[in-house]
Amino acid sequence: SKSAPKTTQMHSPEPDDTLARRGLMFIMSSPSGAGKTTISRMLLEHDPHICISVSCTTRPPRPGEVDGKDYHFVSRAEFDRMVENDEFLEWAQVFGHCYGTPKAQVKAGLKDGQDYLFDIDWQGTQQLYQKLERDVVRVFLLPPSIEELRRRLTGRGTDSTEVIAGRMARARSEISHWDGYDYVVVNDDIRTCFEKVTEILAAERMRRARQTGLIGFVRELMRPEEGDAT
Ligand code: 5GP
Repeated sequence: SKSAPKTTQMHSPEPDDTLARRGLMFIMSSPSGAGKTTISRMLLEHDPHICISVSCTTRPPRPGEVDGKDYHFVSRAEFDRMVENDEFLEWAQVFGHCYGTPKAQVKAGLKDGQDYLFDIDWQGTQQLYQKLERDVVRVFLLPPSIEELRRRLTGRGTDSTEVIAGRMARARSEISHWDGYDYVVVNDDIRTCFEKVTEILAAERMRRARQTGLIGFVRELMRPEEGDAT
């Protein structure tokens, strides 16, 4: 027989409860072929306290992509209108298409202690850092070697050498921006890479400056009790 369905245990908030702090913006960038999509998916599956910021894009959907889940797919006119109305936290052109992070959801969530994962490029990372430096954690993933990167970008062997050369050139240009990040993780093993990313997130959550909800608790700890020598 199947085991009973798992229930989420809710216990009274403890001092280190995630609700005791403002949310953070966890940015992961990489050249395509470094495994970022896989790592993002693992993080979202394993960690109930982080959710993805769904971007808007003018790029047409790829097979299997779901509107509202992978991206909000919008027309160029709609995108321009959103830029006009200041509805993006950041936006950029990436390889011929427009991509932007809608403002509304993220701003409200951060206040409630919600963490967000951002799969955005270096231009978006720079903009978010300029606007919301204290909330931003910037992680860059690298492929383990040129050979492995080429292997991952070659696909099923059906692409022309020009197409592959183009992908390699893009990857090199994205890698050149690695110095705009706080953390760099080489993805030579998906499991190990995931663990490292998880450790970064865990440590960043414990930064004192983020844990504003602890102030009252710490004051209590420091209050002399009756009978204590002063
Ligand atoms: P793709 O078209 O392959 O899904 O994404 C292309 C690139 O655009 C990736 O490097 C991805 O990280 C980046 N990107 C996706 N959404 C956004 C966004 O909202 N803002 C910025 N600046 N880049 C994005």
